[in-house]
Amino acid sequence: MAILKLSKIRRIYRKGDNEVVALSGLDLEVEKGEFTAVVGPSGSGKTTLLNIIGCLDSPTSGEVVYDGTPLKALGEKALADYRKRHVSFVFQSYNLIPVLTVRENVELPLVIEKRLKPAEIKARALEVIAEVGLADKADRFPRELSGGQEQRVAIARALVKEPYVILADEPTANLDSHTAEEIVELMRKVNAERKTTFIFSTHDKLVMQHARRVVTIRDGELVSDERKE
Ligand code: ADP
Ligand code: MG
Repeated sequence: MAILKLSKIRRIYRKGDNEVVALSGLDLEVEKGEFTAVVGPSGSGKTTLLNIIGCLDSPTSGEVVYDGTPLKALGEKALADYRKRHVSFVFQSYNLIPVLTVRENVELPLVIEKRLKPAEIKARALEVIAEVGLADKADRFPRELSGGQEQRVAIARALVKEPYVILADEPTANLDSHTAEEIVELMRKVNAERKTTFIFSTHDKLVMQHARRVVTIRDGELVSDERKE
């Protein structure tokens, strides 16, 4: 079964009398464990799409169904709880908290969730920090890291709550091409080992090449959808 199903998603931004149609009736199904790149020119609707998938924004019309549950059926609180529990984000600018160490940044989603005991939160954080190759940096602050290392921390932070889906909006846009490739390879390793579903947007051809599926959007419409063997 598809972990995620979008049907006829429209998103219209209104500014005064102006209307911008960011997504115009987009359909998309994502299976568990897929590693999907969303590509398309600037302004094509990639960020809008990821925000809707990530429950940060709601479509003007159309339906989002996660694991058989239509998001419309959830109230505001249930929707927020769902997002906190099952969906993680990785951003272009990493968005780490500068006054927290690497370990504290990675622990944060679990600390907020209050589901696990502190010792278990620490153990899980250290485990994912090692998984992204930063075991020796757990007590460092973000300013002491390179951009690529900061993005590794952001991936560890996304991973620590074992979400169904990790959404990444242009995660390599601030990195040089070599580091960008290392980051997408790390994402792919996590995807292969943990079966975590990834949906990420990118402009970068090298990064695209690592995707198992490439969804191209233009002017808010899906124009191609290619899966690799
Ligand atoms: P992409 O991420 O592919 O560059 P976006 O999803 O950011 O595309 O934007 C799609 C379209 O929606 C663009 O025309 C953009 O200008 C417009 N848009 C995005 N966010 C807003 C907003 N908050 N208000 C008005 N228009 C917006
Ligand atoms: Mg964007």
